Amino acid sequence: QQSMGRLCLWFFEAPWKAPHAEEWDKMTMKQLFDKICWTSSARRFATLFVNVNVTSEPHEVSALWFLWYVKQCGGTMRIFSTTNGGQERKFLGGSSQISECMAKELGERVKMESPVYKIDQTGDMVEVETLNKETYKAKYVIVATPPGLNLKMHFNPELPPLRNQLIHRVPMGSVIKCIVYYRENFWRKKGYCGTMVIEEEEAPIGLTLDDTKPDGTVPAIMGFILARKCRKLCGLTKEESTNPQPSLSQPVHYEEKNWCEEEYSGGCYTAYFPPGILTQYGKVLREPVGRLYFAGTETATEWSGYMEGAVQAGERAAREVMYEMGRIPQSQIWQTEPESVEVPALPFVTTFWERNLPSVGGFINFLGVASVLSVATAAGMLAYQKGLLTRS
Ligand SMILES: Cc1cc2nc3c(=O)[nH]c(=O)nc-3n(C[C@H](O)[C@H](O)[C@H](O)COP(=O)(O)OP(=O)(O)OC[C@H]3O[C@@H](n4cnc5c(N)ncnc54)[C@H](O)[C@@H]3O)c2cc1C
Repeated sequence: QQSMGRLCLWFFEAPWKAPHAEEWDKMTMKQLFDKICWTSSARRFATLFVNVNVTSEPHEVSALWFLWYVKQCGGTMRIFSTTNGGQERKFLGGSSQISECMAKELGERVKMESPVYKIDQTGDMVEVETLNKETYKAKYVIVATPPGLNLKMHFNPELPPLRNQLIHRVPMGSVIKCIVYYRENFWRKKGYCGTMVIEEEEAPIGLTLDDTKPDGTVPAIMGFILARKCRKLCGLTKEESTNPQPSLSQPVHYEEKNWCEEEYSGGCYTAYFPPGILTQYGKVLREPVGRLYFAGTETATEWSGYMEGAVQAGERAAREVMYEMGRIPQSQIWQTEPESVEVPALPFVTTFWERNLPSVGGFINFLGVASVLSVATAAGMLAYQKGLLTRS
């Protein structure tokens, strides 16, 4: 059990050290699907599963990275489910209130519209310069942007080689978020939840969720245009994309946000790792550079890619600085939050067959082994009966 525990720790914190890490990192999810998905419908759903979860294509992502990503979100059921899963909860009034309320508390100390373009660690203090020509000095700095956005910053001294290359190698996913508003919540009246998983190649949207306000007002369906489809439709104007669709039961309003156009995001929801990158560069993802520390959801070990991961990463980076300042012992850097009491992650109930049926590949292997064994047994029996084998 102890070695299992160590194995799991590796997989969460250092997937590049996992058994088969190199082999899986050289493989894309497309190659893995080609190997293990036996029907076109399984392959179509598997593709959508990658599209929905990491806003990129199976041929773009490392199998090691994607398998790690799903595992650190609690597995396939937890990451994909609405009820009891990653998509369940919403914030009354929207999640931007978190940053807005924190900014209110911090007051003047939060600087808006001030992109950092230079970080200089050559003096006693780290100096940070912004595009609007302001300079800030600090003993330590936490960089909490997606890694790729560090390309907009000039570092003095230059970043170490692996960090400098890592930031070129982890692109952001592609997504357009759309919200269609209706006069009434007709789907709930028909007993539907509003979630649609749409695999058709011609359909722009891959996944929808009910986005009606918690008190039942403002009926709306939210949908994601993902990865290849997002890139295909990126050039459309809002008018072109709102071209009325008769089947959409008369929407009254439409909003969309193309995250690919955001200069200081570079895309969403998170960065993805193409094949070969995690095993070669993963170890520097969180490694401090002098007095620079790295946060951001990409550096998290649980729910990386989500707000939850961003919070874990921020707290860990803050504790790394506190340790350097001599305020806390090293053992506290990776202190984990206790499980939420209000929103516990309940176990998923699975059937006997779901737990025990072998995969097609496993079943064929089993048949192969079974038939080799039965041929060998029959041959053995025959040889014994003919007196070719003697009892010792
Ligand atoms: C459409 C969409 C849907 C999503 N849905 C969910 C969801 O349902 N649940 C969930 O948990 N997560 C969701 N996410 C993901 C979630 O938004 C991210 O995981 C989270 O915002 C990451 O937080 P972060 O602090 O690491 O990075 P960010 O939120 O990207 O913050 C980085 C900040 O750094 C700033 N910045 C960048 N460059 C510079 C610079 N040079 N100088 C100064 N500042 C800079 C940016 O402006 C930004 O404010 C979604 C994302 C998208 C796009």
